[in-house]
Amino acid sequence: MPFSSLGLSDFLLNALTDLGYEQPTPIQEKAIPATLTGSDILAAAETGSGKTAGFVLPILERLKDGLKPRGNLTHVLVLVPTRELAVQVEEAIRQYAKYFPQKFKSLAVYGGVSINPQMQAMRGGCDIVVATPGRLIDLYKRNAIDFRAVHTLVLDEADRMLDLGFADELDDILDELPDQRQNLLFSATFPKGVRELTDEILVDPVEITIKQEATIPEKLEQRAIEVDRTNRTMLLKHLLKTENWKQVLIFVASKRTANNVILKLSRADIAAKALHGDLSQTERTGALADFKSGKCKVLVATDLAARGIDIPNLPCVLNYDLPRSPSDYVHRIGRTGRAGEVGLALSFIDHESDSHFKVIEKRIKQKVTREQVQGFERSDEVPEELKKKKGAAPVKGKRMSKKDKLRAAAAAKKIWGDRD
Ligand code: AMP
Repeated sequence: MPFSSLGLSDFLLNALTDLGYEQPTPIQEKAIPATLTGSDILAAAETGSGKTAGFVLPILERLKDGLKPRGNLTHVLVLVPTRELAVQVEEAIRQYAKYFPQKFKSLAVYGGVSINPQMQAMRGGCDIVVATPGRLIDLYKRNAIDFRAVHTLVLDEADRMLDLGFADELDDILDELPDQRQNLLFSATFPKGVRELTDEILVDPVEITIKQEATIPEKLEQRAIEVDRTNRTMLLKHLLKTENWKQVLIFVASKRTANNVILKLSRADIAAKALHGDLSQTERTGALADFKSGKCKVLVATDLAARGIDIPNLPCVLNYDLPRSPSDYVHRIGRTGRAGEVGLALSFIDHESDSHFKVIEKRIKQKVTREQVQGFERSDEVPEELKKKKGAAPVKGKRMSKKDKLRAAAAAKKIWGDRD
């Protein structure tokens, strides 16, 4: 089905042509016509499904005949759980609105940065505001944003919003919005809190479910390099210098490892940036923007910071540390090889992570050939401390003593490092 049959105007179709979108994704096929009718929508959809265009395109279509922004009013409110997502969604909006027939204004507002520029930016009103709940309330309390003209509300990633503890903020915002409005709710999962929210705000919603299990992109090459844990950074430096990767996203288990790796790379004259929860918002946005634009070639990230982030044409993902769960593995490596491009996902496998990688392989139903890099071959010997740890495993069914628990925690810390 082509985009042109979904009821979108030329100004949107032209923007889609510029972006190289050939046909709608399944969620877009369903969400676009339903949203255009003015119905409420309840959609089960994940990042990567094309859900952003699924709600932004019909919203822009409906906005084109509406009133111009004025005062400090906004017509559409998109609530998202994280600052990164706010930035990403607002960027997408601007791309799709490139040929909007009148003057168009969208704005992303989120915490962790100064509020004043956001207050100023609201002056004159907005067509669409993309916001994280906490900052939106701050702006509202300071009379910087007026909700009286809001006719469309989008809750994006509603489950994550509740997971992050935004339930009260959401309630406060909902209390202040006009009753007459269209509501679009997107969520990957539907736990109790999300179901309550849907019951509370949606009226006769069109329900859209797209079965989209996280899958490994077709043209993605997976490689597993066996290496001793202590040699990983040396190997990383070697690979960065010898493999001609245009860019690489490196996943590590903790903020501390991220900083350590970056420090060691910088000593070898390899510039890299970090993306983790300890950085200020400006640093995170800056690192991501530099990586997206290609200015930064090596980004070292923790899972938490990298979740939901979309980097087009990323050629290589490297698991310096393996993720804890197989689904995180699929999620991480799915950052590359997107939209049919060729991608490479590389994992370092040390003795400690050997059996964990086997679990991942079993779950993804794929066997990844192990390789070694000359000069960095993994030693045959399993480290003594690991053997000891295995021996000390508690007997099933027997309660651990306090001492055993402390020991196990120390061992786990050694294997995984401190996490976010
Ligand atoms: P999302 O699930 O909204 O985060 O979108 C994931 C990625 O898919 C983004 O990079 C979009 O630009 C891209 N995308 C969305 N819709 C299409 C489409 N119909 N054709 C090609 N790429 C798309």
